[in-house]
Amino acid sequence: GWLDDVDPSRRPRLIVLAGPTAVGKGTVAEYVREHFPQIRHSVSATTRAPRPGEIDGVHYAFVSDADFDRMVDEQEFLEWATVHNQSRYGTPRSSVQAALDEGSSVLLEIDLQGARQVRASFPDAVLLFLAPPSWDELVRRLVGRGTETESERERRLQTARVELASQPEFDATIVNADVAEAAHEVVERILAAEADRGAG
Ligand code: 5GP
Repeated sequence: GWLDDVDPSRRPRLIVLAGPTAVGKGTVAEYVREHFPQIRHSVSATTRAPRPGEIDGVHYAFVSDADFDRMVDEQEFLEWATVHNQSRYGTPRSSVQAALDEGSSVLLEIDLQGARQVRASFPDAVLLFLAPPSWDELVRRLVGRGTETESERERRLQTARVELASQPEFDATIVNADVAEAAHEVVERILAAEADRGAG
């Protein structure tokens, strides 16, 4: 199967990093990418427009609605979802599979709907929830980054309330008070999961 080991002492894992808007998932994932190159990252496809500084193929594969439709039809996604009632985002199946086949764990930075799909399809996946130190701090971070309009912020905060309530579905909650500390905790969880060969 596609989770067969390269190194028999450890098993590569599919890792989900989810959590509410503006909690710092991107920043924590970036820290992991920079400091722990053995962990691979999946580049999602999205129908939303690039933000300033975002590079096609690096931050996302920016695709048209028609392209996304075709990718869904051809079952190219391991999971996909419409996020914040707006744009669609999906994890490409082939690159994730290739990384796992090479023996590397893969980190997916996706939303709650995607996390649930991954849980359903891959019972071995490790689901990590990145939480803010407090609700007020989450609001501060969202307002502070200044990339959304007022109504867009309201929509994201509504989603965030639902997402925060879903924490019990996850294998662990990691509080993002300090990016480096949170990133180290993510990596510790990944290494522990790789070493835990479970029943399989
Ligand atoms: P943003 O537009 O701010 O980059 O991302 C918005 C939300 O979409 C975030 O919660 C992010 O985790 C989520 N997201 C990004 N890529 C994917 C993906 O491939 N699948 C799913 N389900 N959510 C994603």
